[in-house]
Amino acid sequence: MSNASQQSSVVVIGGGYGGITLARALDEHAHVTLVEPKDAFVHNVASLRALVEPTWLPRIFLPYDQLLAHGTVVRDRAVHVDADQIVLASGQHLKPDFIVLATGSTYPFPAKSDEPNTVDAIDHYRAAHANLERANQVMLLGAGAVGLELAGEIAAAWPDKHIVLVDLADQILPGPYDQRLRDELNRQLDNLGVERVMGRALAHLPDIPPGEAGTFTVTTTAGTRIEADIWFRCHGITPVTGYLGDELMGARTHDGYLKVTPQLQVVGFDRVYALGDIAAIDVNKAGVAARQAQVVATNIQAHLAGTAERADYNPAPPALILPLGPTGGAGQLPNRDDIATAEFVSQVKGRDMMIDRYAKLLNAHPTVPS
Ligand SMILES: Cc1cc2nc3c(=O)[nH]c(=O)nc-3n(C[C@H](O)[C@H](O)[C@H](O)COP(=O)(O)OP(=O)(O)OC[C@H]3O[C@@H](n4cnc5c(N)ncnc54)[C@H](O)[C@@H]3O)c2cc1C
Repeated sequence: MSNASQQSSVVVIGGGYGGITLARALDEHAHVTLVEPKDAFVHNVASLRALVEPTWLPRIFLPYDQLLAHGTVVRDRAVHVDADQIVLASGQHLKPDFIVLATGSTYPFPAKSDEPNTVDAIDHYRAAHANLERANQVMLLGAGAVGLELAGEIAAAWPDKHIVLVDLADQILPGPYDQRLRDELNRQLDNLGVERVMGRALAHLPDIPPGEAGTFTVTTTAGTRIEADIWFRCHGITPVTGYLGDELMGARTHDGYLKVTPQLQVVGFDRVYALGDIAAIDVNKAGVAARQAQVVATNIQAHLAGTAERADYNPAPPALILPLGPTGGAGQLPNRDDIATAEFVSQVKGRDMMIDRYAKLLNAHPTVPS
């Protein structure tokens, strides 16, 4: 490591899956500042499990204080970002050598939480858990990966509850997936008694907010009547790019993502990178964000070393590991011809929801329930 590279500064905006992976990878090579408004990393991959099993809650909020040996994690929010300057909510201005945008996406609760304080976020999950526990009938709006996973978690925790998944699409799990994966998930959902009302929208939303207790009746546009005691919204991902200044805004797509080069620079900007859910180059996945972080780390290091060679990010073929509770689910993997079984899914994800992997990255030590 040269002195010059030691003095180069990198500000990573957003401490989600991509941001923490990148900050950690560059910590030895540059002066890294990670800007994040939350007081802890939120392992949202396990948030649906934590909703039905609140003993998991303390384990999905992992502190940032042991992430970096040299760099700093600043608890703040970027409110205006230009190609050479970042303005934080505190009023502080940062002018680093490299800016990395890793602000991810929002998703309706309980899949993601927007509470900046862990204590408040845990209170929100506990309150929703108490409401869910009392409900006999549950309506989940959206039969994509989040709706299916939440249905599986609720069915595993409370086999007697009636669950209905509602979606405008004709079949579950939109996306470029093998039909055999849908068939297997449908088979397991039938065994769990999860009803599906597909191909129609609701004529109107329930008059009770999502996650709150209260019996309601809604009808689909085809006239199907659904009665439930609680509902959750399981659709609506939104990339977070609203803080960009005019210049960088020019690289935004119509739906809020950022156009990037194969090297993950924001198109038109040599020293501004974007990765993870905001980058318009691959699907929205934690694993994708982490792989992109490695590419950005390689490219910033090459820049610091003065070499011209840059690494490209290559999107991977469709892959999904979808648990339905701790022991159910199915998956599709690029290197396998068959559909991954419930046993496999449970082993690689459903049992511990990959908490260990991220706890290790953050040097945090949660205890995974057996
Ligand atoms: C229920 C659920 C289960 C999932 N399971 C899987 C799975 O099993 N495998 C998988 O690969 N993917 C999974 N995903 C997808 C995965 O969670 C996302 O793809 C991932 O969170 C994207 O990571 P990211 O780093 O781009 O952004 P995020 O994880 O969204 O992190 C962005 C961070 O930026 C911060 N931020 C936002 N705005 C600002 C700002 N202005 N200034 C500073 N910081 C800011 C946020 O607070 C946040 O901490 C799942 C998603 C959900 C909802």
